[in-house]
Amino acid sequence: MIMKNNYYNNKTVIFLDGKWVKAGEANTSLFSQTLHYGIGAFEGIRAYQTPNGICLFKAGSHFRRLLNSLEMLNITIPYTEEELTEITLKLLRKNNLRNAYVRPLVYLDADMRLTLAKKAHVMIAAWEWGQLLGAGELRLTLSTFQRPERKSLPVTAKLVGNYTQAILASQEARAKGYDEALMFDLHGNIAQAPGANFFLEKDGVLYTPEPGSIMTGITRKVIMEYAEEMSIEVKEQDISVDMIHEADSAFLTGTATEVVSVRSIEGIEMKDKWEDSIGAQLAAIYQHRIRHDDYQTMTIV
Ligand code: PMP
Repeated sequence: MIMKNNYYNNKTVIFLDGKWVKAGEANTSLFSQTLHYGIGAFEGIRAYQTPNGICLFKAGSHFRRLLNSLEMLNITIPYTEEELTEITLKLLRKNNLRNAYVRPLVYLDADMRLTLAKKAHVMIAAWEWGQLLGAGELRLTLSTFQRPERKSLPVTAKLVGNYTQAILASQEARAKGYDEALMFDLHGNIAQAPGANFFLEKDGVLYTPEPGSIMTGITRKVIMEYAEEMSIEVKEQDISVDMIHEADSAFLTGTATEVVSVRSIEGIEMKDKWEDSIGAQLAAIYQHRIRHDDYQTMTIV
């Protein structure tokens, strides 16, 4: 098997507009409106091997978000949430994937005017993938890039064009010698990392920025539910720079990121050891549950 890149080999198939196509043979127009203007939507979903088979973690929430993202762009596709889930399960089976990352992408036909291209295409690919930001203990830096707010872009949607800013912020952080960036909102409060949500712990309470300029991640919601089960208070509120410098611990959440600890922000170390933090307990619960099926509905054996 020849590996073409990290995402597919010569046997890999993807789903493209109702057909199963070899990844290496699939193609699209260089005149696609998505390629030129960044209009389109996508998702990132993880599949995990569990004792009951391979499960798509929170498949319903992800495909619902995809359909919501498309609605915000006035793009329609001929698939329901359930059909997209079924297609993805077939995709995993066809490619014999177990622990995988799934990437559905909706992109548009050619149109160089600033009017929505008429036809949308649906592509779903999947590949084996480890944790995106490594094993944790991240060193974050405060970014010069500010998250958009809802009047400038639909911030809760996973839109292709929104990620130019994410890449710029991440690249800036890495060029400065840090692992990842932490971006501000319009008012100078902490918003999130380029592709993950932010939590901090102080005196036994968790704090996370409220919706406004963050993408309200599915993992963020799951972690808030786990915290509630453990009777840990989570406050959704503005987080100032002073608060992060007083934090006992902090972590990032996301589908690709999972739950990853933060070691320092702008060189200032967290006060407590990660092992002793609430975040570490939540990360352990998350790791257990994603591999033990109890929060998942879609299973293939
Ligand atoms: N914010 C952004 C901008 C993201 O791309 C992601 C990853 N999808 C997240 C937050 C985390 O969201 P989720 O937990 O739904 O993956």
